[in-house]
Amino acid sequence: MSHIRIAIDGPSGAGKSTLARSAAGKLGYLYVDTGAIYRTVGYYMHMNGIDPENEAAVTAGLPEISVELVYEEDGLQRMLLNGEDVTGAIRLPEISLCASAVSAYPSVRAFLLEMQRKLAREHSVIMDGRDIGTVVLPDAEVKIFLTASPEARAERRCLELEQRGTPQPYEKVLEEIKKRDWNDANRAAAPMRQAEDAVLLDTTNLNFQESEAALLAMIRRRTGGI
Ligand code: C5P
Repeated sequence: MSHIRIAIDGPSGAGKSTLARSAAGKLGYLYVDTGAIYRTVGYYMHMNGIDPENEAAVTAGLPEISVELVYEEDGLQRMLLNGEDVTGAIRLPEISLCASAVSAYPSVRAFLLEMQRKLAREHSVIMDGRDIGTVVLPDAEVKIFLTASPEARAERRCLELEQRGTPQPYEKVLEEIKKRDWNDANRAAAPMRQAEDAVLLDTTNLNFQESEAALLAMIRRRTGGI
C-alpha cells in the first residue's frame, strides 16, 4: 500500500508543530518536524563560530555535519547532530534566527532534501515546514497552509517560551516573528508560500481544539476518510 503524505506549511508560531503532532498521533502517521532539521544545521554553525550570514562558510561546513532524525517509542522526534542529541538545544531563541539564515542557502536545502523525501517514502507522514507542499512533496495527497496573524503568533510563542522557562518580552518576540516571516517568504531558494493546491487554515481566532478539528476535517475530506 502506498503511503499518505500530508504537507503542512506556514509561518512560525501558527501552531503547525503542536497541531501536526497531535493529528499524526490520532491518524497513526509519523510526524516530521522539518524546522528541527534546519535548526540543527543552524545550531552547528552557531556552536562552531560560523557566521550564519556567510553563505560560503556555511556551505563549507556542511560536509562536517551528520544530521539524523530518530523516533522514540511514543513517536517523539529527536535530532542527532554528529551523534549528539540536540533536541532541546535547538529550541533556544538565538537558534531560530540562525536556522532562518542558513535555510535560505540552496546548498543547505539540497543537503537536507533527500532525508525528508526518504521519510515520506517509508512512512505515512504529516510533515510540517515552509516548502513541503511546493518543493519537498509536491505530489502530497493533502496540502494545508496554516497561518495566523503575527500578533496572535507572538502571543502564543511568548506563552510557550514562558512555559519552557525562557521568557521573552512580547515586542521582541513579535519583531523576531516578522523578521523570520520576511526572510522565509522573500528568499530565492524555496520561499515560503501557499501551494496552488493547498487549503488555507487561519487559526487567528481558533483555539487548539477548534484548530485541530478543522485540520482533521480537511485531512479526512481530502483522503476520503482514511
Ligand atoms: O519551523 P521552525 O520555526 O522550527 O523552523 C526554523 C526555521 O527553519 C524557519 O524560520 C525557516 O527559516 C526554516 N525552515 C525552512 N524550511 C522548512 C522548515 C523550516 O526553511 N521546511
